[in-house]
Amino acid sequence: MSIATVNPATGATERTFDEIDDAELERRLQVAHDAWLAHRRTGFAERAERINRAADLLDADADSLGRTITAEMGKTYAQAKAEVHKSARALRFYAENAERFLAPQPLPDPSVVDAKQAYAIFQPIGPVLAVMPWNFPVWQVIRFAAPAIMAGNVGLLKHASNVPQTALYIQDLFTRAGFPEGVFQTLLISSRRVEKVIRDPRVAAVTLTGSEPAGRSVSSIAADEIKKSVLELGGSDPFVVLPSADLDEAVKVGVAARMSNNGQACINAKRFIVHADVYDAFVEKFLARVAALKVGDPMEDGVDVGPLSSEGARRDLLGLVDDATAHGATVLAGGHAMDRPGWYVEPTVVSGITKDARLYYEEAFGPVASVYRVADIDEAIELANDTPFGLGAVAWTNDPAEQQRMVTELEAGTVVINGSTISYQEMPFGGHKRSGFGRELAAEGIREFMNLKSVRIC
Ligand code: NAP
Repeated sequence: MSIATVNPATGATERTFDEIDDAELERRLQVAHDAWLAHRRTGFAERAERINRAADLLDADADSLGRTITAEMGKTYAQAKAEVHKSARALRFYAENAERFLAPQPLPDPSVVDAKQAYAIFQPIGPVLAVMPWNFPVWQVIRFAAPAIMAGNVGLLKHASNVPQTALYIQDLFTRAGFPEGVFQTLLISSRRVEKVIRDPRVAAVTLTGSEPAGRSVSSIAADEIKKSVLELGGSDPFVVLPSADLDEAVKVGVAARMSNNGQACINAKRFIVHADVYDAFVEKFLARVAALKVGDPMEDGVDVGPLSSEGARRDLLGLVDDATAHGATVLAGGHAMDRPGWYVEPTVVSGITKDARLYYEEAFGPVASVYRVADIDEAIELANDTPFGLGAVAWTNDPAEQQRMVTELEAGTVVINGSTISYQEMPFGGHKRSGFGRELAAEGIREFMNLKSVRIC
């Protein structure tokens, strides 16, 4: 895949970029290593001042960066700007909290370990490679970079090949914020060269957000090198609706949870699992809301859903829908590519999906909602968990006992009752089952790439 900005709304190639060659890659790895040796000795206050400056720059650049994001991956301009501001908040959050999250952990009674003093300290480990996806091209990177840099590590970014301008902007952002060269670098390389970077002795660890095949490859290479990896992979989140739910609210939130980011978020609600008592009413209201969505140029005000990120993504998504109908499913709305330039797909709703359809188990990465009718809460939980993924899960019910069952029994890294799955910097975020391992955000996120050193002074 070449490194280029190809506008999903038009299909036009707007800019192409050359990969860096091996000599430049070698230079940059050395720069990263050298930068780390100095950066790890800086204090939290110094790092925080620069990270806060980066946050201010991001906020100030939201309009222009938002346009770049929309031109590169097709999300609506409003959502692109919101992503930029959200990323600025995450920077400020780690500027404010990193020192507290990484405070030494003293043992109250050191005598139990035969010492005068006993404590554990978090120490940075070095350059960390981040392999990142295009769907939240700023947020995904910042939620890695903010804790990494505040912790005293340095970042190397291999971004998705379709968002090079955003990737270069982020490197520039940290330079403008005052960090020396090497604290955060964007490597314009293809995914074939990721292995070389992971295996380089100067690189300490790797984090990947993306698909299962990419995660499998990256984490097995890291394992082979005995290096830590964190994987944030796909999801096929259930959205369970039980009879006591506020149906209108569930429909409103559910449609937004499925269609936001043009349906291309790991934590979009993808499978709507609805109790038989409210199924017909839910589907009728859901279809009405889907029909009212405005699909169009993502730069236009008021547009709800833009194009998919690439022609291949559209082909894959429609292939899933066609396979489902070939196995007995019914398309209740949409189901086709739109007859216009760019990679638009009609917002789609599919019911009657059988277990032999790929859509039952695979992630639908685009504006396609699957709806299922279930007889009771037991069947709802069983179906919700009948997926290889375990990223997020949502349940709508006002019955406290049902809420508790959902919290306990849904197999996911996040469970939300009467809302939708959103990542917040204040809460740990990550997957269970094939959605990955490790956590980002909150205190857990900043501790992933640290050496927790136990110290006894006897
Ligand atoms: P992808 O194809 O896996 O790409 C993600 C990143 O991995 C890109 O930088 C890509 O580079 C790189 N890559 C791909 N194959 C690789 C390999 N074999 N070795 C090393 N690097 C490799 O994923 P995508 O289709 O862009 O993104 C969508 C997926 O990401 C969905 O499954 C979505 O659910 C998941 N996602 C998960 C989260 C989460 O937090 N759990 C968040 C967002 C997205 P190239 O672009 O150069 O191929």
